[in-house]
Amino acid sequence: MLHLYNTLTRKIEDFEPINPPKVGMYTCGPTVYDYTHIGHLRKYIGDDILHRLLEVNGFEVNHVMNITDVGHLTSDSDEGDDKLEKGAKDRNLTPEQTARFFEDYFFKSTEVVNIERPNIVARATEHINEQIKLLEKLQEKGFTYTTEHAVYFDISKFSDYGKLSGQKLEEKQVGVRENVVIDPNKKNPQDFALWFFTVGRFASHVMKWPSPFGEGFPGWHIECSAMSMEYLGETLDIHTGGIDHIPVHHTNEIAQSEAATEKQFSKYWVHHNFLIVDGEKMSKSKKNFYTIDDLVEKGFDPIAFRYLILTAHYRDSLNFTYESLTASSHALNNIISEIRAWDSPKLVNSQFWQKFLEAANNDMNTPQALAAMWELIKSDIPSSEKAATILEMDKILGLGLEKYVGKPLEIPEKVQELLNHRENARISGDFKKSDELRHEIKKLGFEIEDTATGSKLKPV
Ligand code: AMP
Ligand code: ZN
Repeated sequence: MLHLYNTLTRKIEDFEPINPPKVGMYTCGPTVYDYTHIGHLRKYIGDDILHRLLEVNGFEVNHVMNITDVGHLTSDSDEGDDKLEKGAKDRNLTPEQTARFFEDYFFKSTEVVNIERPNIVARATEHINEQIKLLEKLQEKGFTYTTEHAVYFDISKFSDYGKLSGQKLEEKQVGVRENVVIDPNKKNPQDFALWFFTVGRFASHVMKWPSPFGEGFPGWHIECSAMSMEYLGETLDIHTGGIDHIPVHHTNEIAQSEAATEKQFSKYWVHHNFLIVDGEKMSKSKKNFYTIDDLVEKGFDPIAFRYLILTAHYRDSLNFTYESLTASSHALNNIISEIRAWDSPKLVNSQFWQKFLEAANNDMNTPQALAAMWELIKSDIPSSEKAATILEMDKILGLGLEKYVGKPLEIPEKVQELLNHRENARISGDFKKSDELRHEIKKLGFEIEDTATGSKLKPV
C-alpha cells in the first residue's frame, strides 16, 4: 500500500483516494516568464514519480497542471509587477509571446528528463470565466471586499486560515515585511487579491478582461482553485507543489476554495523540497540557476540529472554540485553497461520487486528504491529475471532503461578498426598516435575507457 506524507495532517498516511481507482491530482505549474531551471525540474520530476507510482499501484490518475501566464506578481503578497508583463517588457515581446516561448521551453526541458506530460495542461488566461465565476460565488457568500485597486479575499471571514502551514496568524504577521503600502484600504496584510483593476500602478497592464467587478486581471491564487475544480471536482485527492507554496499560495487556495464550496479542497497535500546551490534556493530572481541545456553543454546526459534527483528524498533539500552530477552520471553509465549484457527479459523476480516497491511506496523513498535496484543488479539471479524486474522498477524511476536492456552496444566496423590500431600504438608506446586515434574515435561518437582488462568503448 502507498503511504504519503500529508502536509495538512503532518503525518505519513495510508493513501486512500475518494473514488478508487480514480485519483484526481493537481500540480501547480510553472510561471512562464523565464527559462525553466533544474530547481523547477526537481519538483516536476518528483510529481512525475508520484504519478507513475500511483499508476503502478493500480490507480487511474487524472493529472492536471496549470500554466501561470497572468497575475503572478514578483512578490507572493500583492506587491510588485506581474511577472509575465515584466518578462515581456524586458524582452520587447508581448506577454503572450513570452508565455508561449517559455511554456515551450518548459515542456522541452521536462521531456528530456523523461517527465510525462500531465493529462490536462490548463492556462490561466484561457480560464478567466471560471475564475470570475468562483469569485462571484465568494462575493455572494460575503468573503470579499472591493477597494479602488482590487477585489480582496477577507481572511478574517475564514476560520481555518493557517491550517496548512500550522502558523498562527499573529506569527505570520510578524513575518510580513515592512512593505510599501500599495493599497491603504486593504484591511489585513494577509488579505489577498482575487482580481486586480487595471488602474493606478496597473493602468498600463496589457492583459486585461472585462468582468462584473470591473476591467482587470485575476490574482495568482484564484486560477489554481478555479481550474482544479473545473477538471477534478470540488475535492481533489492530491495537490502538489514546492514547499514555498505552503504559507501563501496553497494557504490561499484552501481558503478561497473551501469558503466557496464548504467542502475539503484536497485530501492530501504533497510538497517537494528545494534544489539548492551553495546553500541557497536556486531561483530565477537570484540568477543562480542552471538550465538542463547548461548541463547538456557540459556533456551530461539529462537522465543523469534525473538519477541525481532520485538519490535524495523529495522532502529533503538537495545541494546541487557538478561533483554529485558526475557521480550520478557514472552510476547511470554503470547500470547501462550492466544491463546491455543481460538476456532478454522473462520473469519478474517478486522478492526484489517487492523490496523495491515497498521503498517507493514508503512516502516515495527513492534513495531506498535505488538501493534495492542496485541489489538486484549485483545479485546472482538469472539475467533474464533481472531484466524483467528492472524494467518494472523503471516504470516508476523513469530512467528510460528499456532501450538498453539486453541490447549490446553495436560498434561500427570502422570504430573497431581504429580501436585495434590504438591498442597497437599504446602497446608500442606511441602515445601521440594513440591520442590522435582517441580523438578520431570520439568524432565517430565513442569514448574510450582504459581499464585494467583493456580498452572499453561507450557512446559519447
Ligand atoms: P514558478 O515557476 O516560480 O512558479 O515555480 C514553479 C514551481 O517550481 C514551484 O512549485 C516552486 O516551488 C518550484 N521551484 C522553484 N524553484 C525551485 C527549486 N530551487 N527547487 C525546487 N523547486 C523549485
Ligand atoms: Zn497553484
